[in-house]
Amino acid sequence: MANTTTLTIIKPKSIQKNFHGAIINEILENGFKIKAMKMVQMTNSQAEKFYEVHHDKPFYKDLTEFMSSSPVIVAILEAPNAVESFREFIGATNPDKAAEGTIRDKFGSSITQNAVHGSDSNENATKEADFFFSKLERFNY
Ligand code: ADP
Ligand code: MG
Repeated sequence: MANTTTLTIIKPKSIQKNFHGAIINEILENGFKIKAMKMVQMTNSQAEKFYEVHHDKPFYKDLTEFMSSSPVIVAILEAPNAVESFREFIGATNPDKAAEGTIRDKFGSSITQNAVHGSDSNENATKEADFFFSKLERFNY
């Protein structure tokens, strides 16, 4: 299967709980290669832009406030069929429903504070990578 990329965000609560080392370790051990990575704190308007697609959802305000409340770690990951394989690896949106052993099962606190983000399509993976990373911040190694 061809290598593709996805965009992940290790969400604020994961970092506050000091889970980011364990999450990054699992990402690497499960065959995802880190092509770019950094810690950033989004402004509220950046979080609103990132989650624009959810603008009309009842959880939009809570989500964007949460995502801009403290730093996150963002990364571009490469793997065979990265978008789908990463979503399988992290588990369902609601940690209570996420399969046992998945990242959201192990590290998620609630449906909004569900440990990590993963892109939902190749097109969005590209858009989301461009949202956070310049060319100089991406590496082939
Ligand atoms: P996913 O992150 O699994 O792709 P969505 O794209 O549907 O899920 O939602 C984006 C984010 O919004 C989720 O990761 C979660 O943080 C939050 N969210 C989704 N659905 C809800 C909900 N019903 N209540 C509160 N927050 C939600
Ligand atoms: Mg989504």
